[in-house]
Parts: sequence; C-alpha cells; structure tokens
Amino acid sequence: ATILAIESSCDETSASICKDGEILSNIIATQAVHHKYGGVVPELASRAHQQNVIPVVEDAISTAKINKKDIQAVAFTRGPGLLGSLLVGTSFAKGFALARNLPLIEVNHMHAHILAHFIDDPRPEFPFLCLTVSGGHTQIVLVRDYFDMEIVGETNDDAAGEAFDKTAKILGLPYPGGPLVDKLAREGNASAFSFPEPQIPGLNFSFSGLKTSILYFVRDKKKADPDFLKNNMTDICASVQHRIVTILLKKLKQAARQYHVSHVAIAGGVSANSGLRQYLQDMAAEENWQVYIPAFQYCTDNAAMIAIAGYYKYLRGDFTGQDISPLARMNF
Ligand code: ATP
Ligand code: MG
Ligand code: FE
Repeated sequence: ATILAIESSCDETSASICKDGEILSNIIATQAVHHKYGGVVPELASRAHQQNVIPVVEDAISTAKINKKDIQAVAFTRGPGLLGSLLVGTSFAKGFALARNLPLIEVNHMHAHILAHFIDDPRPEFPFLCLTVSGGHTQIVLVRDYFDMEIVGETNDDAAGEAFDKTAKILGLPYPGGPLVDKLAREGNASAFSFPEPQIPGLNFSFSGLKTSILYFVRDKKKADPDFLKNNMTDICASVQHRIVTILLKKLKQAARQYHVSHVAIAGGVSANSGLRQYLQDMAAEENWQVYIPAFQYCTDNAAMIAIAGYYKYLRGDFTGQDISPLARMNF
C-alpha cells in the first residue's frame, strides 16, 4: 500500500510517502520563526503549518516519484502536541482522504518515535525497552509488540530535551539549544564540574532540580568572575550533558534488569545526542545489550515515523472516521 503521512505536532511540518513499509520521501520544513523568541510560539506554529502543509505534501509526492492517485491511505499525527498545530495536519489529512475517498489512520506521536526503528534494519526484536527522550517527553517504554507498549518510567517534571534547551538558555545559547550543547560538549571536559543527581525512587526521572542547580552555579561563578561563562563554556556543556546522560542511563539499566530485557533502543530528539549514544554503547558492552540507535533524520520530528506507524495500522485494518479530532494530551 502507498501511504501519505503528515506530522504537525510541534514546529516541524513534515510529509512522507511510504510504499509497503519502505520510505520513498520524508520532507521536513522546520519553522525558523520561533528562534528569535527562544522557544516555540504556538500561534506562530499553527500559521506556519498552514503555509507549509501544501508545499511540503507536494514535495513529498514528487520526491517519491508517485502520482497523487497512487495514494491509498492517509496517516496523520493525532497527538500529543500543540492543539493548533495538530489541527492543521489533522484537517489536511481529513480533507485529502475525504476528497479521494481514502481510509484515514490516526497515529500517536510517541508511538511513532519508537516505531521509527522499523523504518530500516536492524529492526528491534520484541520485547525491547525504548528510552524515548524528546522535547516534551522522557519515558522508558516496554515494547511487547507494535502497538502493545507500556510506560514503565517517566519524568516527574521537565523532559530531557527541555533540560538541554533550558541549560542552553541559561548559558546564553540560541534556541533550540540541545544540538549546540552537544556540539560544545565534544570540546569540553565532562568531569570539570559536578552537578547533582536527583534521588528519585523507581524508574522515574526528574530534571527540574538540575536546571535550578545550573542556574545558581552560573550566577555564583559569574559574581566572582564576569568572564567565567565565556572561558568555561565547553566544560560546562560537557559536565551538564554528562549528568543528563548518566541520569537517563542509570534508570534504563535498572529497567532492563527489572524486566529481564536485553534489547534496548533510544528514540526522540535527544537520541541524536552524541554523549547519550556513546555512553549507551559503553553500557551495552557491559550489560550485554543489543542496542538500536535511530538514524539522525528519524530522531527529531518527521513524517516518516508517522508513515511507518500508519503502515502497521494499515496492515491491521485499523482505520478511523471523519469525525476524529486531534488531542493535545493523548493516552499512550
Ligand atoms: P515530543 O516528541 O515530546 O512531543 P518534540 O517533538 O518537540 O517533543 P523532538 O523533535 O523529538 O521533540 O526533539 C526535540 C528535542 O531534542 C529538543 O529539546 C532538542 O533540543 C533536542 N535535541 C535535538 N538534538 C539534540 C542533541 N544532539 N543533543 C541534545 N538534545 C537534542
Ligand atoms: Mg521540533
Ligand atoms: Fe517529537
């Protein structure tokens, strides 16, 4: 089957064409309009999606070298995400499906981040654990089958991506800060500074205390030396990244032991982080894990992951009606 998929949950407008589980195109329009505000402005995001959605879909169709009439189903992100943004993708998908009398497939964005692992080989073996780390979520998910997933650990407050972005903001780096902290961390010494590790029982996480400790650390150091930030930027980034990554991996290891699972994946925007990838490889060697790390283009938001999730729902005949509406918060 040839499926058109639309992703519009946050600030990426994306469309993808997938044929029998193979991705033929994956077009992503990233909205630059938010950079000067230091974060995503929901109203501007909706407007940018409206401007982008038609050209992005046209581009996805022509890049895939197919005809509009070849499309047999339309998949879209129903949630979770920004409601105004989700409405644009959902409305487009419904309109396209209605006009051409095609089945509609709703996709949960967080399922899709995980199912991105089924785009290319090596595809994970069930059951596996997935650490999903993105801008809005931090979850350890026990994945028993394509749509049989259970959250076994999650954050009590900030997401890991948020921790990166807020750190960057405190350090005066532009938005989105995650990739920049990663880049600077590569030049720095991860043991230069020590940031506290939260003591949270079980498999849950907390990142809000870390953010506060960085804020006070920078404030106090700057008082003593106005050039402190400038002169220690790479070491601070490396030390903060080290702490975020060790918090994540400690719980992942605990989960793998608790659930007796040795196949372990990472997903979401933060899975692009070079520190996380490196430490995960090291831990995998120690713990005898088989690890799955997504290709860079499938870590952050993209419609290819919506297409692959849509494809597995298509195979099950799991369709939805025209009366569907998007959900800012969505049950997992
Ligand atoms: P969600 O999926 O929870 O709704 P989102 O879709 O906004 O949130 P993604 O697009 O999956 O999130 O990921 C974006 C996040 O990933 C941002 O917080 C960004 O800073 C972070 N990120 C991207 N690349 C890196 C990197 N190399 N190192 C650290 N963080 C990164
Ligand atoms: Mg984004
Ligand atoms: Fe996402």
